[in-house]
Amino acid sequence: MSRLDEIATGLDSVRRRIDSAAREAGRQPDEVALVVVTKTWPAADVRLLADLGVRDVGENRDQEARSKALECSDLPVRWHFVGRLQRNKAGSVATYADYVHSVDREPLCEALDRGAGAADRILRVFVQVDLGSDTSPPETRRRGGALPTRVKGICQAARSAANLELTGLMAVAPLGENPASVYDRLNRIRQSVLVDFPEARGLSAGMSSDLEVAVAAGATHVRVGTAVLGDRTYVR
Ligand SMILES: *Cc1c(COP(=O)(O)O)cnc(C)c1O
Repeated sequence: MSRLDEIATGLDSVRRRIDSAAREAGRQPDEVALVVVTKTWPAADVRLLADLGVRDVGENRDQEARSKALECSDLPVRWHFVGRLQRNKAGSVATYADYVHSVDREPLCEALDRGAGAADRILRVFVQVDLGSDTSPPETRRRGGALPTRVKGICQAARSAANLELTGLMAVAPLGENPASVYDRLNRIRQSVLVDFPEARGLSAGMSSDLEVAVAAGATHVRVGTAVLGDRTYVR
């Protein structure tokens, strides 16, 4: 099977999963954007994805994302930065990313705003929420995100930044927890955020293993890697 056929098969199956999860939840499938996470896969795969109609791709490391975005600058795809982000990388990310899903502290808003301003671009940002419960062991909490009590302050910082557009909330379900109860928790936070930040309608949630639960919980963006592209082999 060619790599194109492989990716087409994965893509087809993920699109079907999104469609049926949306219908089951009484939602329209086109309310859910598929972001294909291409980390560890070559730029050639991004090209195949674009040929297959994918318009949103995600990356989690600046160096890798930056060179891939450069190689693929002729493609009609939007770049989503979904990984943990250090402040000193924000200026670089702002030169190619269209969306940043992992904004979890106020200084990051300032750094991204400055970078976006310098590049004369607008960045759409999701504020990442840490959904670990108080009882989660610390090692399950390393996936980033702001504590729920901090989320509105970060939303305010994003809203006030001239070159950022507050788009919504993002979360990664903590390992070993029931995704349904995790996304329930996220939804309560989201309802409260929407009272003060009605523009934060987006919800970036759901990966290969839990996208159905996330779509049922209102996800507008699912971030899927493995189920489209196959298992990643990490060189590092
Ligand atoms: C890698 C990654 C994904 C995709 O995970 P899969 O399990 O391969 O679908 C989603 N979100 C983030 C933040 C990631 O780093």
